[in-house]
Order: sequence, then C-alpha cells, then structure tokens
Amino acid sequence: MKVEVLKKSLLESNENAAQLSRALLDEHGVVAVNIMGGAGCGKTTLLEHTIPQLASGLSVAVLEGDVATTKDADRIAALGVPVVQLLTEGGCHLTASLVEHGLRRLPLASLDLVLIENVGNPICPASFNLGEHRRLAVLSVTEGDDKPAKYPLLFKVADRVVITKTDLLEATDFDMDQAATDIRVWGADKPIDSTSAKEPSSMRPVAEWLRGLCTG
Ligand code: MG
Ligand code: ZN
Repeated sequence: MKVEVLKKSLLESNENAAQLSRALLDEHGVVAVNIMGGAGCGKTTLLEHTIPQLASGLSVAVLEGDVATTKDADRIAALGVPVVQLLTEGGCHLTASLVEHGLRRLPLASLDLVLIENVGNPICPASFNLGEHRRLAVLSVTEGDDKPAKYPLLFKVADRVVITKTDLLEATDFDMDQAATDIRVWGADKPIDSTSAKEPSSMRPVAEWLRGLCTG
C-alpha cells in the first residue's frame, strides 16, 4: 500500500471511532476537552490546579494518555476524581479508538466534563480527532517562544492556549508578544492565558472557561 493511501485509511478509521466517542459523550451530555502540548509543558499540573476549582458543582473525570507508566494518572487519582490511564505502548499520540475504550470505562451518566490529557508531544496529536468538543494547547516558557511558529498545527486547532511556568519568563528570555503574535495568526481573538503553578489563581480563567463549556 502506498504511504499516502495508508495515511488516509488510518485517518478514516480514526474518524469513525471519533464519531462513536462524540455520540457517546453527547448521549450523556458530557463535554470533552483534548489537552495537548509537548512533554513536560505542564499539562498534568494544569489539571491538578483546575480540577479542584471545578469540584464545586461539576463532576469531572480524566483520560490520561501516556506512552508508559501510570505516574500522571496517579497524580490525578490523588485529587479524588475518576481517571482512566490510556497507554499507547509506544504510540506518540492518542487515537480515537483508545479514547472510545476509555470513555466506556467512565461513569458517563454522572459526569459533566471529561478532560483528555494527550501524550506529551506538540506535533501529531493535533492531527487526530478524538471526538472532543474543544481543544486546549499548552506551551511552557521553558520550551521557547519560537514554538507557535515551529508547530503551527497545534496552535491552529486549539480553541485556547495556556502558557505555563511564567515565573521563569526572565530566566528563559521568553518573548510573550512574539508567542502571542504567532498564536494569533490563527485567530485574532484566540484566548491566551499566562499561568504559573506558583500562583494557582492564575489558572482560574482556564477553570472558568471549562465550567462555561458545561453550563453555557
Ligand atoms: Mg502529563
Ligand atoms: Zn503520533
């Protein structure tokens, strides 16, 4: 089979599973958000800080994508919310079929929101529809302000961009204006949050956005 044909059929079967997941979510009135970004950018930390802010009034669960280990799922389980670890066993992105299987292991009837933490990778996760309703891109200042220009698809498909570790802005010479300019090539009003785990209140707008998706 030619590479292009193989690629097309892979994406087509992914699309079928994504539609099944979306139907499952919509049947139960559950909103799903796909959280993407490079390894170590702070996706799990963002979840650790936003989930407790959502706990009043919303029922949240997490699908935790990783290549190996349950390290991140263990961190989420410590928050007392349902979590299912999705192991890709070498795969560099979550597929819709993995997510569909994960959703079937969650108590969907009692949930409002499922947060899907994708595999740490700023590239191919952006190409795979998981049946989610919204996409969040995470970028840490330690990765560099050139990443929105270098990995454009991630920032193009994202509904919102969270910049993390802003307490390290000076140490990294990260140019916030440059990053924002390159992100907003894909939408002049794309929301961008500046956050730091040292100041958990900086993550409140992200939590409020997630809440709004469920109640709005
Ligand atoms: Mg993680
Ligand atoms: Zn991949």
